[in-house]
Amino acid sequence: MDIFREMNTKGHERLLFWNDPDAGLNAIIAIHNTTLGPALGGCRIWPYNNTQEAIKDVLRLSRAMTYKASVCGINLGGGKSVIIGSQPKNREAVFRSFGRFVESLEGVYITAEDVGTSVSDMEIVKLQTSHVAGVSKEKGGSGDPSIATAIGVYWGIKACLKKVSGGESVAGKTVAIQGIGKVGFYLAEILSKEGARVFLTDIDRSRTEDIIKRFGGEYIPPKDIFSTAADIFCPCALGGILNNETIPLLKCRIVAGSANNQLEDERHGRLLYERGILYAPDYVINAGGLINVANEIEGYDKDKALSQVKSIYDTLLNIFRVSTVESIPTNMAADRMAEDRIRRKKASTGGL
Ligand code: NAD
Repeated sequence: MDIFREMNTKGHERLLFWNDPDAGLNAIIAIHNTTLGPALGGCRIWPYNNTQEAIKDVLRLSRAMTYKASVCGINLGGGKSVIIGSQPKNREAVFRSFGRFVESLEGVYITAEDVGTSVSDMEIVKLQTSHVAGVSKEKGGSGDPSIATAIGVYWGIKACLKKVSGGESVAGKTVAIQGIGKVGFYLAEILSKEGARVFLTDIDRSRTEDIIKRFGGEYIPPKDIFSTAADIFCPCALGGILNNETIPLLKCRIVAGSANNQLEDERHGRLLYERGILYAPDYVINAGGLINVANEIEGYDKDKALSQVKSIYDTLLNIFRVSTVESIPTNMAADRMAEDRIRRKKASTGGL
């Protein structure tokens, strides 16, 4: 693997490695772009098959953070970190060591929780560095970001409804939710309380039962969720689920959910566009968690954070406007807007 070529292709600034055999830690931090501010992005633990796989993942994830912060108007850059391996036995040693790694970058990178890491892990990191977000409310942080993410998806769904029907109310609308985990659960609750009818699926059926008992939604087997007739399909489970096999099955007007990397490939954004299905780009509609955690940096204020999460509504309407005016898929419009903001900032500071 030619690492500089990989970094050049997508414009990464730095790639850093940390080896601590005493703690049993192999970690990588990727800094994609710091034009708008320090790079913020979570720390993922994953049992990669080899280092190349981990490098590819951290490069891809850090770039997505740049785009997310840029298009949502957040003054942060994009970064991400990965810890290679399965869940560590000695978390204190691992996360103290990882904290020293983060501290060595002197604030260029701010870490947070991600897949495989938790609020309590970030509290260990905080013993070694102040460049960490996503700690508990008791420690002055914002806690679990999932509620803010769900609220952001709710505002995103309203923006989609406004675009396709002129009205933004979810009352009486049908929503098929794939994945009733942390985000899916909160979202199903919010939508049900607002009068939407929800169809729910999860590979763990028991996760759907509480919502159905309280609000009368309907369980759908996982394999049938794509072909369920509903106004909105809401992916809140895995990435890569919008592809050549699933897009022809969809019977919805809108795809709007929290899952990361929903499009298997960028061309699937065009496929949705050509089918007349409005797609809310994933990194925009699921930015509520980032907006919430970014607030921690200046001192967390829940009301302020949640009112900023609401801005996802306007951001998406702007993206839909660009998509319509330029006759391009919404994912392409979002990328263009994110790149434009960075270009403008670079130009204003003499970087171009
Ligand atoms: P989670 O792990 O709590 O929930 C995911 C749920 O999806 C689980 O209940 C799981 O059983 C279910 N699932 C997995 N595969 C499935 C399948 N094939 N069919 C149906 N259900 C399936 O995760 P989460 O925190 O709720 O996040 C959901 C998605 O949103 C993820 O893609 C995540 O990366 C993304 N996201 C989350 C946040 C956040 O704040 N939690 C922020 C941004 C993006």
